[in-house]
Amino acid sequence: MNDSLLHKGMRKRLVETIVSKGISNQNVLNAIGNIPRHLFMESGFVNFAYKDQAFPIGAGQTISQPYTVAFQSQLLQVKPNDKILEVGTGSGYQAAVLVELGALVYTIERQQELYVKVQQLLPSIGYHPRFFYGDGYKGLPTYGPFDGIIVTAGAPFVPQDLLDQLKIGARLVIPVDNGDHQIMKVITRVDENEFDEQHYGNFAFVPLLNGTN
Ligand code: SAH
Repeated sequence: MNDSLLHKGMRKRLVETIVSKGISNQNVLNAIGNIPRHLFMESGFVNFAYKDQAFPIGAGQTISQPYTVAFQSQLLQVKPNDKILEVGTGSGYQAAVLVELGALVYTIERQQELYVKVQQLLPSIGYHPRFFYGDGYKGLPTYGPFDGIIVTAGAPFVPQDLLDQLKIGARLVIPVDNGDHQIMKVITRVDENEFDEQHYGNFAFVPLLNGTN
């Protein structure tokens, strides 16, 4: 793996940047500090890997901004060995963060091209989530319920199937569309039929789309 001292230095500065923006969970900061984000980038953007920005990854999709990844990861409150579902594998960067946090990660992607690519990259650098090709609106009913679910694309609404796949006490972290941006929502399953909803500010995500491609 090509991960030089220069990369490590840039990563350290990236961590300082997201601390200055308000991320405080040390496990999340360690994960961002450990993961070689430059290996997740399209070749034209490698030099920008440690900027706190989203970048194109092909198939019209993006690798999320590190601050956003950290923010969502912090909201998810992952504990070691938690079974976590991620909707929107994309580059695999968020999945790598979840693996670093000690989760057993199940990740779904609807774009064939990205689904194939990420299965080469992540295991080659030591990350082993379980990969699924499919429509994240449906979740993974045969593998649930989950200790947490994270959606990394802007959803037009909160999919009922995802709520159904939360354990009691588990949380769904999902950016929900509100016209020109998304509101970050955390929905906690209080008991079988009761859910608590909290809002955590505005974000910009690519849309959660229907079906597979
Ligand atoms: N977590 C990714 C972010 C990728 S952007 C990362 O760290 O790089 C959002 C991803 O969600 C895209 O790859 C897009 O193809 C995927 N996506 C959109 N709608 C989806 C759906 N219904 N099911 C699964 N994945 C979906």
